[in-house]
Amino acid sequence: MRGLALILMALPGLAMAQEAPAPRPAAPMEHPAPRPDPEAAPPAGETGKKPEPERDRKPRPAAAKPAAAEAERPETEPADPPGPPIHATLRESDFDYSACLLALTLLGADYSEQAPVTDPRQRDCGIDRPILLRAPLPGIEIPGGALMRCDTARHLALWLRDFVRPAAALLPDQPRLAALEPGSTYQCRATVGNDGAKLSEHAFGNAFDIAAFRFEDGTRIAVAPRKDSGDWSEAFQRAVRGTACLHFTTVLGPGANAAHDDHLHLDIKQRNGGWRLCQ
Ligand SMILES: [Zn+2]
Repeated sequence: MRGLALILMALPGLAMAQEAPAPRPAAPMEHPAPRPDPEAAPPAGETGKKPEPERDRKPRPAAAKPAAAEAERPETEPADPPGPPIHATLRESDFDYSACLLALTLLGADYSEQAPVTDPRQRDCGIDRPILLRAPLPGIEIPGGALMRCDTARHLALWLRDFVRPAAALLPDQPRLAALEPGSTYQCRATVGNDGAKLSEHAFGNAFDIAAFRFEDGTRIAVAPRKDSGDWSEAFQRAVRGTACLHFTTVLGPGANAAHDDHLHLDIKQRNGGWRLCQ
């Protein structure tokens, strides 16, 4: 009986001895969590030993599974498939494209549909449904034509009709606007004026740059720094630049940055909340 009692007394002790390690690892688990940098914990001494039970406990069941899973997995894991190139995300639906072409035709634009444009060096560049715009409005030429998306051409034509042509009619001798001298049109390149990390809207056919307005009487108004020059050219440039922001979501020109001192940059980039960048 005594012997049994001793065994019975010893058993709970044994049970406790087995259970005792359980709460112990709980303490080291609590410690690493609040530490922002696990590497900051010194590995020497007791503090270095404390995390070990956690490492022993945690990885073991977890490590067994990944080992099996890795054996089944191929050596080289394929990367996530890339999303569609940016030019493809801008592709117009059949309806929108047809509606845009019809609008251009009704405005009297001279244009022709072109084959899709892509760039082998940069997958995001390109225009899925480009047009070559030779004249946004009857009698207003773009020498050499300009490749762009239909919607860019449509906004250009509407702005010329509603604002630029009327503004020209207020100049002395009322010269008729005859041509836009283009700067950059479609071009697969990065933006200017930042670190070049982003592609320009020119790379998607969303942008058109105007270097000068040419009139039927042979005169021209080049885009240039004209702040406080106090003449007709300044008034015209201010007027067309200001109204351009009603049709385009980005309008940059002289004063915006050094890269835009000799042209107006116009684009139809879509931004969240309809935000516009006009400087
Ligand atoms: Zn530009």
